[in-house]
Amino acid sequence: MRKKASLIIFAILIACACVAAPFEARAASTPVFKPFHGRDGSLLIAIRSIDEGKETKYLAIDARSFKVSVIGKKEMGKAALESEWKATPYARALKKYNKPYPGSQNAGLTRGARDGLYLTVDLCPSTKKMDAQLFKAISELDYLKEKPLPVAIAVSGMWIQRHEDELASILELERKGAISITWVNHTMTHPYDVDKPIEENFLLMPEVDFEKEILDNEETMLKRGLIPSPFFRFPGLVSDTALLARLERLSLIPIGADAWLAKGEVPQKGSIILVHGNGNEPFGVKKLIEFLETKKKELETGELRFLPLRDAPKR
Ligand SMILES: [Zn+2]
Repeated sequence: MRKKASLIIFAILIACACVAAPFEARAASTPVFKPFHGRDGSLLIAIRSIDEGKETKYLAIDARSFKVSVIGKKEMGKAALESEWKATPYARALKKYNKPYPGSQNAGLTRGARDGLYLTVDLCPSTKKMDAQLFKAISELDYLKEKPLPVAIAVSGMWIQRHEDELASILELERKGAISITWVNHTMTHPYDVDKPIEENFLLMPEVDFEKEILDNEETMLKRGLIPSPFFRFPGLVSDTALLARLERLSLIPIGADAWLAKGEVPQKGSIILVHGNGNEPFGVKKLIEFLETKKKELETGELRFLPLRDAPKR
């Protein structure tokens, strides 16, 4: 009986692209950059080695589809030449969206290349309960032409640590086939000082260890079986040219937004929509629910559709 139950759990884990068996408590995530050919003709780039003690695994990005997998060393084929990997959509996106940016807010990918809608939900640290209304609304869109609903969740490690039960309830929505999650790194502690101006706030505060914020969060995610995507969201959407260069060295693509709903921005085709799911921004959630209601017909016919974040960068 126990064997049968574990087989069922295993089947669930492999059926879901973004959740793997949790890694060991001491799993450490180390940046690497190893482009190689997959067995099926794909070109993959390993961006992290994950050391669990007994075995080293790799987080590998499909450089054409942006899909992520966790592989063993044996699954790594022949090394790809620079001329091969540099021409891939992933390598181009890394360069393009991390290039020097004049402002301090909303750098990176803010609009999808295709005419879909890209829903992103931020889970910044909060003592509040998650916004149950938001997750209820997005998991009950029975009229959507294409299901499950793709949603990118930008999660911080501190939110995870304080909300284990709520994380489990989100994963249950994915297991039931209501939503399909792309996990986006949103740093471990999400540094913020209410008294500081934007230019000296969030990750721009001098005491912040940028790389540690990112890698610690990855480890927190991996230990719960969440597979990080190659996407990153800056807390407050605040960055500068130096941080973008460091993000590029960590092989991550920054995701901004052109429809932060609580700020009154209205989604258009191609929009990256931003709402907060941590209970801190009910107005944005209200706006999303209103938007879904007013666009019901277009969503039903497929004239308007939600796409996974991996479809947003130019191919
Ligand atoms: Zn945040």
